Amino acid sequence: MNKIAFIGLGNMGAPMAENLIRSGMQVTVFDLVDDAVSALKSKGAKAATSATDAVKDVDVVITMLPAAKHVKSLYMGEQCLINATRPGTLMIDSSTIDAESARVVGEAVKKAGRLFVDAPVSGGTAGAQAGTLTFIMGGDAEAIAKATPVLQCMGKNLFHAGDTGAGQVAKICNNMLLAVLMAGTSEALQLAIDNGLDPKVVSDIMLQSSGCNWTLQKYNPCPGVMENVPASKDYQGGFMVKLMNKDLTLAMNAAATSESSTPMAATAQSLYKLHQNKGNANKDFSSIFQLFDKS
Ligand code: NAD
Repeated sequence: MNKIAFIGLGNMGAPMAENLIRSGMQVTVFDLVDDAVSALKSKGAKAATSATDAVKDVDVVITMLPAAKHVKSLYMGEQCLINATRPGTLMIDSSTIDAESARVVGEAVKKAGRLFVDAPVSGGTAGAQAGTLTFIMGGDAEAIAKATPVLQCMGKNLFHAGDTGAGQVAKICNNMLLAVLMAGTSEALQLAIDNGLDPKVVSDIMLQSSGCNWTLQKYNPCPGVMENVPASKDYQGGFMVKLMNKDLTLAMNAAATSESSTPMAATAQSLYKLHQNKGNANKDFSSIFQLFDKS
């Protein structure tokens, strides 16, 4: 049985760690929030008192943290997670961060004689709960081979995008598109409402028409159209506006480096920033719908 340390038990990490436990893995968990650790302990995890305590006797470490600064400081900062692991340990970072930071962290892990995979995910909190996430991996063949059976306990589709950092490049391209789709879908639904249509009816029409996309299928932004999505739970849980803004910044920075033209993403970023600055940083990103609401 694999011994796994899981660090970062937020909206995504908690259900992911739970699926590892369900698959029969021995899971030790840590988060800065005590309640998050207790919740996982009640589901069969071993509770650690610190990140370094969590990783000291495991085969695999998985981190699911908000942003690059958290990942870098945990792996390479004062605590130095890398040095707290045994040589040969596989370290998987599933946070969404910039490719360069993933490469820096990955190089430090490999230099210390450990294995590294960047494996950001797609599928949202529903995918994390159902164990149907998509993992987009970057790393060398040996590390990918070892990571695959572990990630299959939490995901359905696994892709090897290329070397270290490649997973992050693919992920930010996907999320840039998602930001545009969510804003565009919100705009279209509000136009329909403003012209007297029922948002549920127009959603059903678009689902069977050429405007069909993932946000309509799985994550409708208009309250009451779909059950069990953040829009129908006052935009609580899910993927926070501030995290979408982080990903859009990563995409825009990558575009600046490669001199790519990304006008749709630039507009989406302005909208999500405006929405965040109106006090919506911690709401789910589908709350961008409220920006178009005239009521
Ligand atoms: P979150 O803010 O809900 O969770 C992050 C957790 O990390 C928090 O519980 C926080 O306390 C913990 N943490 C931060 N620093 C830590 C440290 N040094 N040691 C231990 N714990 C620490 O965020 P989330 O929604 O779970 O997202 C996590 C990552 O996954 C982000 O990079 C996000 O962009 C990405 N992501 C999120 C979604 C989504 O739908 N929420 C989907 C795909 C990818």
